[in-house]
Amino acid sequence: MQIFEDILTIQTRTKELKASGKKIGFVPTMGYLHEGHIELIKRARDENDVVILSIFINPLQFGDNEDLDNYPKDRENDLIKAKEHGVDFVFYPTEKVMYPEPMSLSISVTKRTNVLCGRSRPGHFEGVVTVLTKLFNICQPDKAYFGQKDAQQVAVVDSLIRDFNFPIELVSVPTVREADGLAKSSRNVNLSAEERTEAPSIYEALKFGHSLTEKGEQNPLDIIKQTRQFLENKTRGKIDYIELLSYPELETVDSVNGQVILAAAVKYSKARLIDNLVFETSQHA
Ligand code: AMP
Repeated sequence: MQIFEDILTIQTRTKELKASGKKIGFVPTMGYLHEGHIELIKRARDENDVVILSIFINPLQFGDNEDLDNYPKDRENDLIKAKEHGVDFVFYPTEKVMYPEPMSLSISVTKRTNVLCGRSRPGHFEGVVTVLTKLFNICQPDKAYFGQKDAQQVAVVDSLIRDFNFPIELVSVPTVREADGLAKSSRNVNLSAEERTEAPSIYEALKFGHSLTEKGEQNPLDIIKQTRQFLENKTRGKIDYIELLSYPELETVDSVNGQVILAAAVKYSKARLIDNLVFETSQHA
């Protein structure tokens, strides 16, 4: 496994690999690797000749009052895990390498963003698409792997790839969970012991909301209301949002029909957690 810290060296290598016909799978992360990330790496390992993992905590996607400073880091352990799971190249740039000076251009995200995390975290998805545009040009992947846990990110990256004609296939990987259902996240270490016992209720609430649709409930507002009540009874975390939208378009729906996402974000003292369920429903007259 090789570790690259500067852009030109890895970009030259990826160019050579592509010229020799190798397929490159790319897994972008912010590090503090857990089994969710490992699942992405495994998929990339299965489907490509070369696997590139990037580890970069992108300041552009954090708002002023967010957890950039508390974001967990463990370079040594991340490199051990990457090697163990067959990563070929780790791209581990510093902020100075990625942003030697303020950007002169910006990409604005105009669709799939005025809802969910895009609404609660202004500028977040602009930061995400900016760093990904750079990383895609640096790593030149054939396939890029993203977790369904960040379903809105998947939807926005899908737009990025299509709008700007990146020759990249987006692969979305199902959410990996703890035994009690909590979605694995690097941020889970920032939960207090008490918060950690309550946090699985986010997934329970989403499953409860989904079960209502299976029982025939079709009104999104009722489903959201009941899901919120369920969650409020189970956690003292502050609910940032619970939304039910079409997926991947992320548009409001009058009635639950077709593929939809039920998503929630909850703020704990030092961590804001998100989770979602994407499911298909069909109404019968
Ligand atoms: P992050 O390091 O949090 O930016 O995540 C890097 C990638 O791993 C993103 O595509 C995430 O969606 C994905 N990921 C994070 N947690 C999970 C999880 N529990 N299951 C599946 N993928 C995940």
